[in-house]
Amino acid sequence: MDGALSNAENRRPHILIVYTGGTIGMIENDESGALEPFDFDHLIDNVPKIKRLDYDIDNVQFEVPLDSSAMTPDHWVEIVKVIAENYDNYDGFVVLHGTDTMAYTASALSFMMENLRKPVVITGSQLPIGEVRTDGEENLITALQVAAARDADGSPMVQEVAILFENYLWRGNRSTKHSSDNFNAFKSSNYPRLAKIGLGISYRKEVLWRTCGEAPLNIRYGLDRNVMYMDLFPGITEAAIRHQLSTPGLKGIVMKTFGAGNGPTAGWFIEAIREAVERGIVIVNVSQCDNGMVNPTRYQTGTALNRAGVISGHDLTSEAAITKLMFLFGQGLTPEEVKTEMERPIAGEMD
Ligand code: ASP
Repeated sequence: MDGALSNAENRRPHILIVYTGGTIGMIENDESGALEPFDFDHLIDNVPKIKRLDYDIDNVQFEVPLDSSAMTPDHWVEIVKVIAENYDNYDGFVVLHGTDTMAYTASALSFMMENLRKPVVITGSQLPIGEVRTDGEENLITALQVAAARDADGSPMVQEVAILFENYLWRGNRSTKHSSDNFNAFKSSNYPRLAKIGLGISYRKEVLWRTCGEAPLNIRYGLDRNVMYMDLFPGITEAAIRHQLSTPGLKGIVMKTFGAGNGPTAGWFIEAIREAVERGIVIVNVSQCDNGMVNPTRYQTGTALNRAGVISGHDLTSEAAITKLMFLFGQGLTPEEVKTEMERPIAGEMD
């Protein structure tokens, strides 16, 4: 059932909306017809129903609202700063964000906010809020309800970074955008939904993240951008592989492999990978398949990568893997320490 605070509990939920941009708040440019980010007042004017929620809602908005394709780690820092500065004054946070890079932001935020015990619900929409068939209104209202939801003992029901999209509540660092035009735009192939959203909202407590111990919120801002994806395909050339591996300043790679974590068997390929690992580059093996996990010792091709020093990304999404690498290197860890932490869940991102 919807666990939002009732009047009987005598305190209206206090929610902060952080508006970063995205389609939800966009309007059409008069001349080109292209969608452009617009300001928060326009967005809220289009959702008069919000007043019926009986919540105290404040907002903070990016000075210039963004299409999320323009997001950078500096923007993740900006979002986290707003949440950290307001953490004690609100019951929950709703981040309005474009869908294109929402899963990256959700993953990064989950790593940057250690010991999070309040809901950070990220949502957006496929159609601008001003359009008649918009999905934005429903997404925003439901996200606010999730951010206000409390358990029977009064503690926040959701205590993690989650993505709310079209009746699905997903763990943020397990989510991926899978459709550019369906209202149901996100999926989480290796982790179940956190709530069943229909007429009411029933939370699945057995899969909700809970921080152990009593330690307070610990914000860690460092993010190192010297990482990249290396996407394998049959026929990839030695020149292409060596070119990528010699990127100046490179510290970490998320290698997107075939099936259970396999790659080409050519000697030059394994040799190039081994040399990069010996130079201190951390290479994480993540499958191109959405569902399932890397099993580096199942096939000889995977075993060869394993022996060359590539570490397993288990069932990480690509988005979680690359942001986790940025985060770990950003904390000043050595390559060996990064390897250890990459194989250990820190915010429920892997099994
Ligand atoms: N390009 C938009 C963005 O990510 C798409 C969206 O919001 O759905 O900001």
